[in-house]
Amino acid sequence: MSAVSVSDTDVRSILAGAVDLARRALLELEPSGVGAHVGVRAEDEYAATHCFEATLPGYHGWQWAVVVAAAPDTDRVTVSESALLPGPDALIAPEFVPWEQRVRPGDLAPGDLLAPPADDPRLVPGYTATGDPEIDEVACQIGLGRRQVLGLEGRLEAAQRWYEEYGPDTDMARAAPASCESCGFYVPLAGALHAAFGVCANPMGADGHVVHMGYGCGAHSETPLPSGAGSPLYEAYDDAAVEVYPAESPKPAAAGSAPAAETAVAAESAASGATTEESTATTEPSSPGRSETAGSEPGSATGAQ
Ligand code: SF4
Repeated sequence: MSAVSVSDTDVRSILAGAVDLARRALLELEPSGVGAHVGVRAEDEYAATHCFEATLPGYHGWQWAVVVAAAPDTDRVTVSESALLPGPDALIAPEFVPWEQRVRPGDLAPGDLLAPPADDPRLVPGYTATGDPEIDEVACQIGLGRRQVLGLEGRLEAAQRWYEEYGPDTDMARAAPASCESCGFYVPLAGALHAAFGVCANPMGADGHVVHMGYGCGAHSETPLPSGAGSPLYEAYDDAAVEVYPAESPKPAAAGSAPAAETAVAAESAASGATTEESTATTEPSSPGRSETAGSEPGSATGAQ
C-alpha cells in the first residue's frame, strides 16, 4: 500500500515517541486493518498525530490518524482521538456538485421542468396586475403582462454569450463578405438589445440564432451570384474543349517510311480539325499520339473511320 510518510521535526520528543501507545489505542478499537506506522506531524505544541497505514479492503491509500497529547512538563501522554482519513493516494468520491449546477444547457428534454434559481439575479419584477381585467388585458397585449422581466444583469449575460458565439470576432464573421447589419435576412431585436442584436432568418446562415450586427456569413443577402455556372470559387471545367499542343520537332525520316514533314503537317491538320480522309490516313500509322489528340474532336474521329 502506498502511503506518504509524515514526520515533523517540530514534534516534541515525548509525543513523537508515543507510537506504541497510539497503535495500542487504535487496536483496541480496530483489532484488524492497522498497518505500518507512516509518520507523525505536530498539531500544536502539546498535540501530535500519528498516522498508520489502513489495510482494510476497499480503503486503498487511507490512513489511521491517532492524536496524542501531553501537557507541558509532563512525561505522560494521552490519546485524544482516532479516525480513518484519506491519504494523498486515497480513492475518494469526487467533490459533490449540487444538482442544479449539474444541469447543462441542452439537457432539458420534453416534459422536464427547470425553475430558475430562487432570487435569480437575471430577473427583475415586471408588471403587477392591477386587478382590473380590462387594464390587465391591454397590458398583456402590449407586452407588459409579465410578472418578471430580464434585468440589466440578465441582458448583459445573454449579450455576452451571443456575442461570443455569433459576434464579429468569430472565424465565420471574419471571412464574410459583409456583416449582418446590412443583410436582408437580419431581423433586429426589439427593446434594449435592439441596437446591437438581431435574429438571422436565413436557413443557409445562422437561422434562428441571435447574431450581433457585426457578425456575418457567406450567405449574406448581398453576396453576388457567381459568374458563369458552377462554383463561385473555381473556374468551370469544360470537358468539351480541345487543348492543342504545339507539334514536336520532326525527326529525320527513315528510308521507306512516309516523309516526316508530311506526317507532322498531317497531324497538325488533324488536331486543328481539318479532317480529310487523305490526311488522317497519313497520320494514323506514323503518329498515334497525335491522332489521339485530334481524336478528341468528334469530327476528326469520324473522318478516320
Ligand atoms: S444570412 Fe448570414 S449575414 Fe445574413 S443575417 Fe444571417 S448570419 Fe447574418
